[in-house]
Amino acid sequence: MRRKLAAGNWKMNGTRASLEEIGRIAADHSTAACEILICPPATLIVPAVAAAGAGSVRIGGQDCHAKASGAHTGDIAAGQLADAGASHVILGHSERRADHGESDADVAAKTLAAWAAGLVAVVCVGETEAERDRGETLVVIGRQLAGSVPEGATATNLVLAYEPVWAIGTGRTPTLDQIAEVHDFLRAELTARLGDAATGIRLLYGGSVKPSNAAEIFAVSNVDGALVGGASLKAADFGQIIAALSAA
Ligand code: PEP
Repeated sequence: MRRKLAAGNWKMNGTRASLEEIGRIAADHSTAACEILICPPATLIVPAVAAAGAGSVRIGGQDCHAKASGAHTGDIAAGQLADAGASHVILGHSERRADHGESDADVAAKTLAAWAAGLVAVVCVGETEAERDRGETLVVIGRQLAGSVPEGATATNLVLAYEPVWAIGTGRTPTLDQIAEVHDFLRAELTARLGDAATGIRLLYGGSVKPSNAAEIFAVSNVDGALVGGASLKAADFGQIIAALSAA
């Protein structure tokens, strides 16, 4: 049985005043029937860990470097995230792939670095709208999965997030059948590669998840939770998504 995961990606949003939202989530959902993860900007990881307390909310990073240390101005090593109290790190988000030219090989190298630091890697894959229109969705996702997830993946060190690029921050979502098709495909690909070990790997859907559509998305086969951007910034919204996942 896979434990469901509600993950929030704050992206480049939030200041210390926003820590109140984490405190509220921790207080309101201490007995949630799902795992809760919030990935704030790096500046907030240490106080976010304090705001989350010893309860059900875990804190993660949004990226890490593939190297453990060195002359990489502006970057953060996986070990530094772990040292700050993070338990997870998002890798290969489409905004990193687009804004920073990250390739599948880069994401795989970062994933190995995350694992070496004891972090759970939340690896993102997803097609652009043009790729979907050309009927290439599964080809693209299969290629990203094969290239971005290195050998050694287990149910405890990997979470996979399907995030169609055209659904991120747009208010648009795939149909439930389209989500099911991709998640069933991801499960089959993981199983072909990892055998029984694939059964426990959580598959998150991400892209314009909000309180009003969360329950129907969580009812889709092989959807084990969500990676949520905009709707994770406010405890009132993210709390409703957590409640929907707990009830799923
Ligand atoms: C994301 O950036 O991971 C995301 C899913 O964003 P949003 O929920 O805002 O579409």
